[in-house]
Amino acid sequence: MNVPFVDLQAQYRTIKGEIDAAIARVIESSSFVLGREVEAFEAAFAGYVGARFCVGVSNGTAAIQIALQACGVGAGDEVIVPANTFFASAEAVSTAGATPRFVDADPASYNIDPARIEAAITERTRAILPVHLYGQSADLDPIFEIAARHNLIVIEDAAQAHGARYKGRRVGALARAGCFSFYPGKNLGAYGEGGAVVTDDREIARLARMLRDHGSERKYHHDIVGYNFRMEGIQGAVLAAKLPHLDNWNELRRRHAARYDELLANSGLTLPREEAYARHVYHLYVVLSDARDELQKSLAGAGVQTGIHYPVPVHLQPAYASLGHLPGDFPESERQAARVLSLPMFPELTGGQLARVAEAVNEVVARPQPSATRA
Ligand SMILES: *Cc1c(COP(=O)(O)O)cnc(C)c1O
Repeated sequence: MNVPFVDLQAQYRTIKGEIDAAIARVIESSSFVLGREVEAFEAAFAGYVGARFCVGVSNGTAAIQIALQACGVGAGDEVIVPANTFFASAEAVSTAGATPRFVDADPASYNIDPARIEAAITERTRAILPVHLYGQSADLDPIFEIAARHNLIVIEDAAQAHGARYKGRRVGALARAGCFSFYPGKNLGAYGEGGAVVTDDREIARLARMLRDHGSERKYHHDIVGYNFRMEGIQGAVLAAKLPHLDNWNELRRRHAARYDELLANSGLTLPREEAYARHVYHLYVVLSDARDELQKSLAGAGVQTGIHYPVPVHLQPAYASLGHLPGDFPESERQAARVLSLPMFPELTGGQLARVAEAVNEVVARPQPSATRA
């Protein structure tokens, strides 16, 4: 039995009627960009996360960029970003005109280590961008405390954490602004690209709305130079149709994670840990292995598809060579990048598929390791 890493078709089969009707409505109305379906989704998603405002945009990277800009972050500013994240977290800081300053990861949660933030603050620091990596909230309270002490803005990158909670409250609505991606494989995924900025601040919402639509509030009247970062009508309609299912899908992900925890307890791999403050939504189920590449190859041979999130920490990406970082600068992020492996994880994963993955993993790790030294 082959097990895919994600299976978007399996999910479509469970909601085909709702999705087809939603897409047909957009085509009938020909509201292909923004419009009523997007507005309805924005209202529903704001309600879901517990924010006053939601601004639908074209993707998650755009959401981070315009959230920063709407908060006044730009040229000459520095923004603190975890070194272990998807490249886009830092990239959006750069496209907003600011410079990312990296901070190493916590060894247990894989999220930004709050204890290391203060050392990265300079007189140019304007904001902190914690990422809720793999679906688990970063430890926000110490971050808010540091931000208050240094007068910094906090913006959440919640692109992997739709519905995740920090101390009982849904992430994304806990800081000045929160950013979501609706890339198809995310916990809430569009049928194409999508993203959103959520905030309780009316002025930030107004600016984000202008920035996504050529700096305009009134058609053909442009107050600032913005972008074309608008959400499409079809994406708004699909996302509104899918949102009522999100909690159930996250619950299924949590159940699959608990089952992996049981079946892999004796594998010798480091398994994900849910922090006391967090309700993890397992966008990814990430294990650590000292022989990660061999494990991935053997699993591929056994028909089990896996992923690596992420093989190169952001500070060592060629795109950021100009920042002058060297291997060893963020050792915990580098240790993780060399060891992380993401196992198949999606709500529709069957018991049989899950057991097959665990069986294949346990079989590979039980094999005698090839000796590192020659006889
Ligand atoms: C997916 C993702 C983004 C970017 O979202 P896109 O919609 O792909 O632009 C940003 N940050 C993190 C942590 C992500 O996982």
